[in-house]
Amino acid sequence: MADLKSKFDVLVIGGGNAALCAAISARRAGASVLVLEGAPKFYRGGNTRHTRNMRCAHDAATEILTGPYTEEEFWDDLLRLTGGQTDEELAKFMIKESKDILNWIVEQGVRWQPSLGGTLSLGRTNSFFLGGGRAMLNALYLTAEKLGVEIRYDAEVTGLNIEDGMFLSANLKQPIDGASEIRASALVAAAGGFEANIEWLKEYWGEAADNFLIRGTPFNRGSILKMLLDKGVQDIGDPTQCHAVAIDARAPKFDGGIITRHDSVVFGIVVNKHAQRFYDEGEDIWPKRYAIWGRLVAAQPDQIAYIIFDSSVVTSFMPTLFPPIAGATIAELAGKLELDPVALEKTVAEFNAAVQPGRFDHTILDDCRTEGITPAKTHWARKIEHAPYLAYPVRPGITFTYLGTRVNRQSRMVMKDGKPSANMFAAGEIMAGNVLGKGYAAGIGMTIGSVFGRVAGREAAKNAKN
Ligand SMILES: Cc1cc2nc3c(=O)[nH]c(=O)nc-3n(C[C@H](O)[C@H](O)[C@H](O)COP(=O)(O)OP(=O)(O)OC[C@H]3O[C@@H](n4cnc5c(N)ncnc54)[C@H](O)[C@@H]3O)c2cc1C
Repeated sequence: MADLKSKFDVLVIGGGNAALCAAISARRAGASVLVLEGAPKFYRGGNTRHTRNMRCAHDAATEILTGPYTEEEFWDDLLRLTGGQTDEELAKFMIKESKDILNWIVEQGVRWQPSLGGTLSLGRTNSFFLGGGRAMLNALYLTAEKLGVEIRYDAEVTGLNIEDGMFLSANLKQPIDGASEIRASALVAAAGGFEANIEWLKEYWGEAADNFLIRGTPFNRGSILKMLLDKGVQDIGDPTQCHAVAIDARAPKFDGGIITRHDSVVFGIVVNKHAQRFYDEGEDIWPKRYAIWGRLVAAQPDQIAYIIFDSSVVTSFMPTLFPPIAGATIAELAGKLELDPVALEKTVAEFNAAVQPGRFDHTILDDCRTEGITPAKTHWARKIEHAPYLAYPVRPGITFTYLGTRVNRQSRMVMKDGKPSANMFAAGEIMAGNVLGKGYAAGIGMTIGSVFGRVAGREAAKNAKN
């Protein structure tokens, strides 16, 4: 075990995908590396624990991917989903590098499996981790340990000593191995966003943030991000922008994970607490549109909404942890949801009357649509008419925030005066805003962490050796 009072080449703060990719990459480049994970060992790995897949460009089908997903198509998707709010140079760089990540991550011990089927539509674009995010993390931790990366848990960093854009040392909340200050020649900050910091979210969302549920780790409180911004690192991204999906209102405040998310929106309608529809439930296929529903629900009164569907579609989507609430009639269902029965009956009746004949196919933008109602449901519109009637109550489930530290192609932080930092690098959620100004496409979070983690580690090692 290394003496924590001695100076390391590279200090990595965080314990998720970005941190581990950076640590392994720095170590493989010959650096001595210390990883400080704020969480206890059991909870190591932040939001990465909850992940299932990663989006990488590839020119041909592979053993686990059903067809090509070219750099151009990836870029087109990103451009459309972010509405152009992305750093083109960095985004294209990430997409190019993602091709190599598919193999690089396997070299670090991670295994792939074919995509899940059903409504996900990810079989061609996204590679799934065999055993999920935890198995992926276990493989990365094992590889890092074997390579000689030093890892400490319960190691929350509460202070950063930075002078003129140069990292000097980090202070620990509590001493570890007799050390309370850690010195290193270079820093990789991979400590996530500020999604678990409700007080910080309230600065932008007001009291509504009290009704948000946080899908992942309670340890991503944005403390490292805040310290870096306070010490002159340039920020990037709109602080109100985040990845947020509709999750079951019965989910726990933190760490509910993937099994609380509802993928049933396209099979029914979504109403607010006044039993009114408020958005096109059939706008686009799932991977490109699921991440807008958290924000849409956040904008509704009391930040609550209800997905209403009927028994004919119950087996069409992945079940979640929570059973649907059922009623023999729409009015009975409304009663159980504490909605006005007359209003819900009217909304469902108007929707049913507006549904046009079509050929239902959830894998394409089909021709099942409504006519004459606002908002329209532009695809997959079918009448809600088979009792029992069912509903899921949903709230905004915040996955991660986009405000971050600006970086360049070396993953090196950029200071407020535009100059690159002397020795500070960032990877993962903490710099996601460079690529994601808004919007999301499934699997990009892990692409950002892997690509920029690998680059940050390599560049930090190079920096330390010079
Ligand atoms: C339920 C859920 C499902 C998801 N599914 C997917 C998916 O399938 N594909 C995908 O691409 N993305 C997915 N995401 C998003 C994905 O989890 C993130 O984009 C990715 O894991 C971010 O990696 P990271 O290393 O930057 O952050 P994290 O994995 O969150 O790691 C941050 C780490 O920093 C540590 N930390 C924080 N503050 C401090 C401090 N002061 N001192 C020391 N350590 C600190 C935390 O303990 C944590 O270990 C999902 C997220 C959630 C919540």
